[in-house]
Amino acid sequence: MGTYELIVYGCQMNDYDGEKLAGIMEEAGYRPAPPGDIADVVLVYTCAVRESATTRALGRITSLARYKKHKADSVIGVGGCWPAVEKEVIESSCPHVDFTFGTTNLEDVPATVAGIRGQAASPLPDEIRLRRAAWPRANVSIMRGCNNFCAYCVVPYARGPEVCRPVDDVLHEVEELVGTGFKDITLIGQNVNSYRHGGTSFAELLLKADALCDGVFLRFTTNHPRDVNDETVAALGRCRNVARHLHLPLQSGSDAVLRAMNRDYDVSRYLDVVSKVRKAVPGICLTTDILVGFPGETEDDFEATLGVVERVRYDSAYVFMYSPRAGTAAAALADDVPRPEKVRRLQTVGARQRAIALEINEKMVGSEKLALVEGPSRKNAGEYAGRLSENKIVNFAGRARPGEFVRLEITGASSWTLRGEPAP
Ligand code: SAH
Ligand code: SF4
Repeated sequence: MGTYELIVYGCQMNDYDGEKLAGIMEEAGYRPAPPGDIADVVLVYTCAVRESATTRALGRITSLARYKKHKADSVIGVGGCWPAVEKEVIESSCPHVDFTFGTTNLEDVPATVAGIRGQAASPLPDEIRLRRAAWPRANVSIMRGCNNFCAYCVVPYARGPEVCRPVDDVLHEVEELVGTGFKDITLIGQNVNSYRHGGTSFAELLLKADALCDGVFLRFTTNHPRDVNDETVAALGRCRNVARHLHLPLQSGSDAVLRAMNRDYDVSRYLDVVSKVRKAVPGICLTTDILVGFPGETEDDFEATLGVVERVRYDSAYVFMYSPRAGTAAAALADDVPRPEKVRRLQTVGARQRAIALEINEKMVGSEKLALVEGPSRKNAGEYAGRLSENKIVNFAGRARPGEFVRLEITGASSWTLRGEPAP
């Protein structure tokens, strides 16, 4: 059939879809294009959650026009969240794009490509094997879509309503990954806490997956503070293999802004979840997402967010500047926080968070930790990078094999990563 190249942007759900799409293309008879070659089929899988994401994707898609100059019959397809909500924008600004597709029906891509190339499409098997790209780590989707309609967010429009995957399918995939040597498995969904299938809750699913994951870090993301209930907190306390890390998006520390965002919790509920989780799993690492510059966010609202950052003391935080997304409820509101002010808020909370993270990480110096060796360090040539249960990266020198667990003594810390040495 020829070769394909796949370019994936965005979140873990997109990574997962990308691995599925690669599996689909290979089942259909394509093989990955060697680096530097122009593939017969080029697929870009996009994110649309922020304006910066679509700008970046547009840059890449535009640059693909030169592929057609060198290879007129190459087929270019753009998929994912962006065409799912704004396919007209792509069609009108990128005439060299042959087709677009959304976040569902990925199985139809080979037939669409075959149609464009004037070829017959071959049938695909019922079960597609994902082409895993991040060994020894792997994601397992437990649900697709989202029902929450946070006022700023395009995801429910791009990915449709929440659909949970059957328990047995999830457990089967987990078991297969464990059996083939994956050591760090993350259950993923836009709001895993609202998982329910055939009477099984998220907490029950987590306990079942935990029982299959001896010798493996089991993770899950992402969480909605409204839906992290007592049953889930209790399950966290009972699981043996669930990693000591919870990503709990705050978005804002102001009740007024949380209400305007349609988040459906207030700060006191959020802090209540934090204290219950910390009680159930002492020393658990907490990370978060923070959105600054939402319409109407005042200086006091922003100060309230800083207050929560000080109070919770996150291990790390992703901080984003609000950008309006077409079709969302907030797009109808005036985007009234000026950009320089958004930048200032982003930098202020970022700086505070970095200082807190450094303090937390420095306290780990001298301790001994179990790390999963992921591969060569991205920072230091000749060194390895290991990941802790706490989801922190430790760079270390010494002999190691990716995919194995090593005991490391933590010898140094920055805001982002740790340094270590193989423990004697
Ligand atoms: N389902 C996940 C995350 C979805 S998007 C959750 O609920 O946590 C990831 C993050 O992008 C969000 O947590 C939010 O902080 C940010 N985000 C979403 N829409 C945005 C927008 N319009 N502008 C800037 N950041 C946004
Ligand atoms: Fe977007 Fe909210 Fe759904 Fe997360 S929970 S994907 S922020 S609508």
